[in-house]
This record gives sequence, C-alpha cells and structure tokens, in this order.
Amino acid sequence: MSDFEIHNLFARCLHHGAERLRPGDPLEPPIVPASVYFLPGEPSAEHQYGRWSNPTWSALEESVSILEDAETVIFPSGMAAIAAIFYTQLKPGDRVLLPSDGYYTTRALADNYLRPFGIGVFTCPAAEYDAKDFAGFRLVWVESPSNPGLDICDIRQVAARAKQAGALVVADNTTLTPLGQRPLELGADVVISSGTKALNGHADVLFGHVASRDPAFIASLRDWRKVSGAIPGHFEAWLVHRGLQSLEVRFDRMCSNAHEIAERLAEYPKIRHVKFPGLVSHPAHAIARNQMTRFGFLIGVTFADTVSAERFIGECKFVCPATSFGGIKTSAERRARWGDQVHEGFVRLSVGCEPLQALWNDIKTVIDSL
Ligand code: PLP
Repeated sequence: MSDFEIHNLFARCLHHGAERLRPGDPLEPPIVPASVYFLPGEPSAEHQYGRWSNPTWSALEESVSILEDAETVIFPSGMAAIAAIFYTQLKPGDRVLLPSDGYYTTRALADNYLRPFGIGVFTCPAAEYDAKDFAGFRLVWVESPSNPGLDICDIRQVAARAKQAGALVVADNTTLTPLGQRPLELGADVVISSGTKALNGHADVLFGHVASRDPAFIASLRDWRKVSGAIPGHFEAWLVHRGLQSLEVRFDRMCSNAHEIAERLAEYPKIRHVKFPGLVSHPAHAIARNQMTRFGFLIGVTFADTVSAERFIGECKFVCPATSFGGIKTSAERRARWGDQVHEGFVRLSVGCEPLQALWNDIKTVIDSL
C-alpha cells in the first residue's frame, strides 16, 4: 500500500460517520454509558445488553477498521486483546512461537496460563525468525520491531513460510501503528496493537485492538469478548476515538523527531550504541526500508552504565521517566530495571511531539554533562 493510500485511509477514518449526521447533531459520536437497553418483545435491536455491544465502541471500531483496512474488535487493553487471540485460537496440544525478546507480558501470559493447559510455548529471538523452521506451530507470533530491543524480521517472508507450515500468523504492531507498518498487507493473518501507546497517545487510557480479514476469526473474538466480559469502557473508547483523530500528525512529528535525534545521538562517543531502524547501522535496516512506511519513534540508547543511563533519564527536563511509550511527551526508561535481557545502560527512548530543537537542546545538555 502506498503512502498516499495509507493517508487516504486515515482521512476516511477521520471523517467516518459524517454521512449519518443531521443538522444540529454533535459532530463527534457521543459517549453512551449504557449497560441496559430498552428491549421489548423479541430481541432484534442492534444493542441488547452492555456486555455485548455499545454505540461508542461501534463508532471507534468502524474508524479503526477503516485505518486497518480490516474488521477490528476493540479490547480494554493490549493484553486483553492478546489474551483473546490466545484463548480463541489455541487448544491443548498446539504449539505457539513467541519472540524471546518481545513484550515480556505476552510470554508471561503464555507461560503461566497456556502451558498448564498443555499448550507448547516456544521462543525465538525476533531477529532469528527469518531462519526459523515453523513446522508444527499452530500460531506464530511476530513482533517487529520488537519491544524493547527493536529487532526486526522480514514479516513478508516469515508470514509466507509460517502460513505454508499451517500456522496462523499474528503480528503485534504496537511499536509502529497502522501508519508505520501494514502487517496484513505483508501477509499476516491478524494484527494486534496496544492502543495504550501511540494510537491514543495521551497517557490516559489503556486500550487494545485486533484486526483481521477473516470473518470467522473476528466472530470468534467478538464471542470471546461477550462471554469473557473483557470489554472496553465506553468513556475509554470515546477517549481513544478522540486520540485517534490526531494520530497522523502526532506520529509524523514523533517519527521525524526520532530519526533526527537518533542520527545526532549516534555521533556521540559517550553513547555506547544507538539502535534505530532508520539508521544504516541497524542490522536489519534494509528490511526496515522495505516493510515499514516510517521508522517509528523508539530509539534504543545504550549508555556506559546504570548511573549514566539513570542520570540521562532523571536530568532531562523534557523526558518523562515512565514505563510506557508512544505518548505525545517524550519518555524513557532503563529496561534492565524490569529484568529484560539487555545491557544495564540500555534506555528505551520514546520520542514525542516536543519541538525538535527544544528537545534536542535538553538532551544534548545532559549528555554533555555525563
Ligand atoms: N504489545 C506490546 C508490544 C507492548 O509494548 C505492550 C505494552 O507495553 C502490550 C502489547 C500490552 O499492552 P497494554 O499495556 O495496553 O495491555
């Protein structure tokens, strides 16, 4: 899909719903805080019970479906979306492959709650998926770029081989959003994303969504949501709808800021290593150029040690110390503090929307003082 086509999808997503407006209607979909709907006689109304559907959810699902170019189901967090995929798709005896260096809670969910049910949980570094044999796997989970290491696999090649081996291919696209990478166009069956990050972007909501072009898969997710009760709140859905409207401008600024900052950081001898898919020094830069429409807003910055990393995070005025990413404000954290298998001085820097020069001056002042 060309850049123009992706941006056209975004414009359609932004204006979705306008065709239904009558004079005097609010321009934006309202929050409908309903758990109970008026339902006389035979139940044929669109909305029947609050755990099954909600007009505020529908407005958001329709908008995200346009952007993903695939039907979308929303969830109260990224993890709720991931759990829905696991629990609807896997049964005892199945084998699932997860990236060993991807988001750790996805592995924790599989290890703690799938394994005891007789599901085989296997891992492989994201960068080694390109050479992995997928025979025998029911589900192949791709996270590229991986969080936090920003390693990349060739999604087109991986998806083709995994599907040939009979696996369902799921791509976690949280680190890039549908504006930065299109896993379904690259051959994945399913895309999942934590909307807590860039999609909402304002650090005030946990959210998640799953998109797919397979109606049976989507129906199974809707049924899971209905019976498990893992439902999004109407207020949260409304907030995400609002955040989504500025995604394109935020994402554009975040990605261009990140690229510029990564290039500048890479010139600093005091910094051990800078990992960013847009730098030619990234081991999979050629693949990144091929499959990403933007290089994203995350930079892996390795400082000499814990002390310099923590000083960087603590002393930059325009960098929030926080364990999340994708927000309008730049944030950072030293991932080894959670036990991730990374260098003690490795910082995941999530570049935000601050004016570039102000942000860079702040970062440069602190790095110069280290
Ligand atoms: N996937 C990735 C790549 C993540 O980084 C995260 C959270 O950090 C999640 C999924 C889970 O999302 P949530 O925190 O919204 O449950």
